[in-house]
Amino acid sequence: MNNNKYKVLLVEDDENITMLLSTMLETAGYQVVVAGTCNTAEMMFLSYVPDIIILDLGLPDKDGISFLKKVRENYLTPIIILSARSEEKTKVQALDLGANDYITKPFGSEELLARVRAILRSYRFSADEGRFPGGEFVLKNMHINYDKRKVFIDDTEIKLTQIEYNILALLSEQCGKLLTYATIIKAIWGCSDEGSIKKLQVNMANIRKKLGSTPGQNDYIVNEIGVGYRMKEENE
Ligand code: CA
Repeated sequence: MNNNKYKVLLVEDDENITMLLSTMLETAGYQVVVAGTCNTAEMMFLSYVPDIIILDLGLPDKDGISFLKKVRENYLTPIIILSARSEEKTKVQALDLGANDYITKPFGSEELLARVRAILRSYRFSADEGRFPGGEFVLKNMHINYDKRKVFIDDTEIKLTQIEYNILALLSEQCGKLLTYATIIKAIWGCSDEGSIKKLQVNMANIRKKLGSTPGQNDYIVNEIGVGYRMKEENE
């Protein structure tokens, strides 16, 4: 009964990583196919129609970014970049080109599995116009009521401005996914100018403060410095 399993296309040329990841993903109940080059990946993508792609950037024939662009011309299949390159510029570029997440090597296997689960989950929800069933979102002590546009910690309502609420709702609707500054700014303000990132950071600082976070510690939102923000998962 393999039909119900999520299909993962793993694009990676390093045999050790391929072996490790295939075993790990298969043990976790996924079906895995491996492509060692961009060209193979393109063929396999079309014949195999994966539910999610894990993509290395340093491949023998082309840069993984070119495969990412190719897929995004026509498909929304979730893509996690797995790369040794940790420069912010590369991360931002990949995310802005439509990658759903970015994991830097070396990585923890539990972390990777958590990201895969989170993305497949948000992907399922996005089919429902980005809303969670019942118009509610719960993460630890926080509870968002989308219909009433209200946020609660335990039973206490948290007073947010419209902008603050919009940012929080956006992050929650894509829970687990890292959103770049540019993506958030575009979604909230529609356009960006020189002061946009600063404006976002000020709003975010207020949101985090209102949610009861202390500097350097946050129960709900992770700040990837220089890249963007991500709402944590339940068990994180
Ligand atoms: Ca490689």
